[in-house]
Amino acid sequence: MPEYCDVALPVPLDMVFTYRVPAETIPVVGGRVLVPFRQQRLIGVITELHDRKPSVKIKSILRVLDATPVLDDQLLRLGRWIANYYLAPLGEVFRTMLPLTAEFKRAVAYRITKEGQLALHLAGMSGSSARSRRTPEEQAAEFRVLDYLAAQEAAPEEAIELEQINVREEALRSATRVSKLTLNGLVRKKCIAREDVSAVRDATRTIKIALLKSADGKLNDNQRRIIETLAAAGGRVPVETLQALEIPRSTLGTLVKRGLIEVVAEAADFLVSRAKARPSPFAFDFNSAQQNALSRLREAVDTRKFAGILLHGVTGSGKTAVYLAGMRAVLEAGRSAILLVPEIGLTPAVAADLHQIFGDEVAILHSALSDKERAQQWHRIRSGEARMVVGTRSAVFAPVADLALIIVDEEQDSSYKQEESPRYHARDVAVVRAKMANAAVVLGSATPSLESYFNAKKNKYALVELPDRVEQRPLPEVEIVDMRQEFQETGHEQVISRKLAAEIKERFDRHEQVMVLLNRRGYSPVALCRTCGKTLECRNCAIAMTHHKREHKMICHYCGYTAPVPKSCVHCGSEYVYFLGTGSEKLEELLHGMFPQARIARLDRDTVRGHEDFERTLNALNEGELDLLVGTQMIAKGHDIHGVTLVGVVGADSALGLPDFRAAERTFQLLTQVAGRAGRGQSPGKVILQTYFQDHYAVQYAAHHDFTGFYEKELRFRSWMHYPPYSALANVLIRSDKLDEALQWSGTLGKWFEQSRHEGVRVLGPATAPILRLKRDYRYHFVLKSPSREKLNGTLRSMLAYAAAQKIPRTQVIVDVDALWLM
Ligand SMILES: [Zn+2]
Ligand SMILES: [Zn+2]
Repeated sequence: MPEYCDVALPVPLDMVFTYRVPAETIPVVGGRVLVPFRQQRLIGVITELHDRKPSVKIKSILRVLDATPVLDDQLLRLGRWIANYYLAPLGEVFRTMLPLTAEFKRAVAYRITKEGQLALHLAGMSGSSARSRRTPEEQAAEFRVLDYLAAQEAAPEEAIELEQINVREEALRSATRVSKLTLNGLVRKKCIAREDVSAVRDATRTIKIALLKSADGKLNDNQRRIIETLAAAGGRVPVETLQALEIPRSTLGTLVKRGLIEVVAEAADFLVSRAKARPSPFAFDFNSAQQNALSRLREAVDTRKFAGILLHGVTGSGKTAVYLAGMRAVLEAGRSAILLVPEIGLTPAVAADLHQIFGDEVAILHSALSDKERAQQWHRIRSGEARMVVGTRSAVFAPVADLALIIVDEEQDSSYKQEESPRYHARDVAVVRAKMANAAVVLGSATPSLESYFNAKKNKYALVELPDRVEQRPLPEVEIVDMRQEFQETGHEQVISRKLAAEIKERFDRHEQVMVLLNRRGYSPVALCRTCGKTLECRNCAIAMTHHKREHKMICHYCGYTAPVPKSCVHCGSEYVYFLGTGSEKLEELLHGMFPQARIARLDRDTVRGHEDFERTLNALNEGELDLLVGTQMIAKGHDIHGVTLVGVVGADSALGLPDFRAAERTFQLLTQVAGRAGRGQSPGKVILQTYFQDHYAVQYAAHHDFTGFYEKELRFRSWMHYPPYSALANVLIRSDKLDEALQWSGTLGKWFEQSRHEGVRVLGPATAPILRLKRDYRYHFVLKSPSREKLNGTLRSMLAYAAAQKIPRTQVIVDVDALWLM
């Protein structure tokens, strides 16, 4: 066995750490180990076993957690690629790839020793030792500890199976009410032994206690409580439930011995959605475009070589059915597939569909899973029990064997980008993983990202189109309403134009349904003082706080800070505080006022706490229990509601005013997506697009459903400005809660960039970030662009090394490669 191993630890440092391998352990590369690190213990992944003696003093591994790798060669390689490409610490990458934190429990436990038994015996005979310097209280405390531990020791064998015989520190201290000092004293005297019982738990099994028969004969209080708890719960509960009753474990042992209960290890409960089953997506026949897409997909899979497909299908063209048919073909061939979906797309109803199609072969990874459930799903995938994986961003790391296909639905969706370290983009990782696995990757969208479309144009991906809606339904007609003209003609700043109001009324008269999009939540986005002209800003961010009327609060949408609704100006004390602008909450109120008879609901982050709320509202719309749904971009994503014939867009173009080179692309995508909600049933749809930017090409092309036109124009702009996809781009953000520090650090790095000349890399900055202060941090940034990714990454790497040498903490220098936001 090699003497040393290198371990990647989840700490913000760009290095691995060497530890000694104790003789009796057999660690594996790709397996996890518990190691001491500074004052703590951390779990890391072994990256290498070797015999190179380190020059510095090193520590030993404390515990080997896996006998076989949890990251196979391919996933280790993928992890290294991510660390390298996104300049992220390798240990943080591995932590993101492994959802196994629930399997590890850190704990310290105690057991009584022979010396302890003797001391207990003597204390019982003679009271106390005369020479003792301890107070009677201390002696009593020690006696309680020894007595308690001795009682546990006496528990019969069966109880021991539950856990080891030692008693966890928390349990011991709560049962005996002693301090840590008392325990330390007893350990020093060797009366008790302290052990590290940090352990890997088998997440696939749950230890349960089952009731065999209820009382025969006498039971003491504790015994009766256990039997009653079991009976009340239907005869079987997880052992944790009984442990929570704080009854000595010896009681359980006694009951096992008397044949009243037994200990069973059960396969963990598997959560299956109980949502109402919908007709299978295979209920309709494929049109020729869908058939073509499916056969292209199957061909790509069958070659067993890397192949990329960009599936560009207009809204309502039946992309999902193609995905699912492709996955079923992979399953039938005995191989594995991963389907990535945006955060909002994985509702219980979608999960129910998937179970219907794939049965127990599917593992669904969504954000509502607990750590334990996540670990269970990971094991199902790893064991080959589930070969179809559907999930949000991190499902791209699912440990499937024989990967044949990865599908990224709505590949342009920003939820695929992780906005914390490692700042990876799951779509791009999916492509790299498919390459490593010789698998096919399908990127699907009605509005592909510029990057993916560009790659398809350069033949890196095959472009497969679904140009028509299913059943020859027409795309909705889009009418633009110029809100500047509306203002001139009515003399008021309008939220809902006369045209939109008239169209809504018409739909209500025909008993059809309406959606209205306003991509801004809350009641009013700004509280402005008319006397001094200042706004109410968040205490932690340079951002105006939003008025939320129902909650009667001012809320910062960036950090969540809340404040009371001001009666007077916080700056000058003036009473003339006005609430300006309209959010979705106010829009809902306005619509109620205009159409008092209509059944109106709202869908945004304030009304939706989880997938369940989201789905309940959409179901209500689907069942015809609502006339109008107002909401933020949440309403724009992929729902298939047949009764909606009118979509109103209110202020969706406000993003065009932001200093962000992706603003046009985002606006075009949002407008196209939301327009796509109209006319998905028998009646044709219409969209009323209210805008202050009526001449902007993003608005014009979206109104004409002209994807190609938009892309060509936007690509030209990106090319002139050296933006992606023509340049690789990285945002480097310097932050500190002290303004001086943020300024000084960004100045230091700015000088370094200037002096160290990086050929082929443009560096802009330092500049104040568009949001100067966020979550208490002052922020400055650099934007780096280069046609050569290698040069860009080389520069970033040198910059990080320089920053480290200048003692700028790694956590305060954020490198965001392929940043989606420059805010
Ligand atoms: Zn004021
Ligand atoms: Zn804030």
